[in-house]
Amino acid sequence: MSDIPLIIFEDKCTACTKCIKVCPFGALTMEPREKYDLPASRFKKIAVVNEKCTACGACVQECPFEAMELREIKRTFKHNISDYKGVWIFAEQRGGHMEDVTYELLSKGRELADVRKVELSAVLLGSGVKEKASSLFAWGADNVYVVDDPMLEEYNTDLYTDVVSTLISKYKPEMMLAGATSIGRAFIPRVAVRVQTGLTADCTALEIDSVRQILLQTRPAFGGNIMATIECPDHRPQMATVRHKVLKKITPDESRTGKIIEEKMALKEPLSKIIEVLHEMGNQVNLAEADIIVSGGRGLGGPENFKMIEELAKAIGGAVGASRAAVDADWIPAYHQVGQTGKTVCPKLYIACGISGAIQHLAGMSSSDFIVAINKDPDAPIFNVADIGIVGDLTEIVPLITKALNDR
Ligand SMILES: Cc1cc2nc3c(=O)[nH]c(=O)nc-3n(C[C@H](O)[C@H](O)[C@H](O)COP(=O)(O)OP(=O)(O)OC[C@H]3O[C@@H](n4cnc5c(N)ncnc54)[C@H](O)[C@@H]3O)c2cc1C
Repeated sequence: MSDIPLIIFEDKCTACTKCIKVCPFGALTMEPREKYDLPASRFKKIAVVNEKCTACGACVQECPFEAMELREIKRTFKHNISDYKGVWIFAEQRGGHMEDVTYELLSKGRELADVRKVELSAVLLGSGVKEKASSLFAWGADNVYVVDDPMLEEYNTDLYTDVVSTLISKYKPEMMLAGATSIGRAFIPRVAVRVQTGLTADCTALEIDSVRQILLQTRPAFGGNIMATIECPDHRPQMATVRHKVLKKITPDESRTGKIIEEKMALKEPLSKIIEVLHEMGNQVNLAEADIIVSGGRGLGGPENFKMIEELAKAIGGAVGASRAAVDADWIPAYHQVGQTGKTVCPKLYIACGISGAIQHLAGMSSSDFIVAINKDPDAPIFNVADIGIVGDLTEIVPLITKALNDR
């Protein structure tokens, strides 16, 4: 049976070509019926599907003759699930600096490994990174797989995909967790496809089902209005990405030790090349790490009023954040955006100015330690998560707070 999920009924196809026009992938062509030894028909041609088909269903919906149907293809996992053991995390480093999300993943990974009574391993890639490997034991790793190669000096999607897929195929972990960072988001889905498993992106909670001993991966769905728990019962490893600051870090135990496993691989020349690495944002934004964030929303009324947000942020030593409405209005660049489709932040203090508190914004900031909200609408939902709510006009209140801070 072909792997293409689209069936075309030769007795119903009228060669009207509507399906071809609507297919975004060029997966359909019109071919002479005789080429396929089909019974004679008043229609000389028939639609034929090729391997570019992604089962998007656009043609099925468009076909006025119900001549097309998608069938479910059950993809069976070719390996023995019981061979897969241990929890793995991807230890993300940039320029030799271990990213904080690595410690968060190790902290959660330790918990999951303990429940499963298996080992926790980290995978560390880079050039000259071997010395960093032992620092991961304090955070709970039992093993660190290191691939240290000059070709891995800078992140490269092709190489990272090759290396991590090869390690997974060789060592067969039952779980693989990575940060939902720009790096994790770029290569981990490719790894999942390579090793023929599923991936749940942007998880907010991970736990083991106590009966079936599988990973329950929870993430927001339908625009953040519901939380969906996703399982991967029939394939391994069970793969998930988690955003920075979503998982809590444990206190490192410097007395812990573990095993470093150095892997040598013949790396293929990657298809893509890094031409230049731009550190465009520098430390100027760094929202994810900020202890204090002052955010502005549509209530600012215009881009000029972000100046008062910047002044307050400066006075209090914080970073500037924004709601998506402010970003969409082009009042501030997108890398300031906090929320479901922006950054997840967890500062000690979050000051929301003129932000209503939509669920998608709350998804990115509601775990902040202390929240101050300034809004002229006393019923704004942001007040439901605020520790201090100030009802009033932000254009009067924000400069007053800034002045009071500067006067100190
Ligand atoms: C799939 C999806 C993903 C999304 N992702 C994100 C995301 O990542 N981040 C995000 O922020 N949003 C996101 N959104 C958009 C979100 O639903 C809201 O539309 C957005 O957060 C609203 O921004 P806001 O609070 O600035 O604007 P509004 O909802 O318009 O609120 C403005 C607030 O300012 C107050 N106000 C007005 N004038 C003043 C004043 N002078 N003084 C004091 N208060 C004043 C008003 O009372 C109001 O409460 C997403 C939406 C979808 C569908």
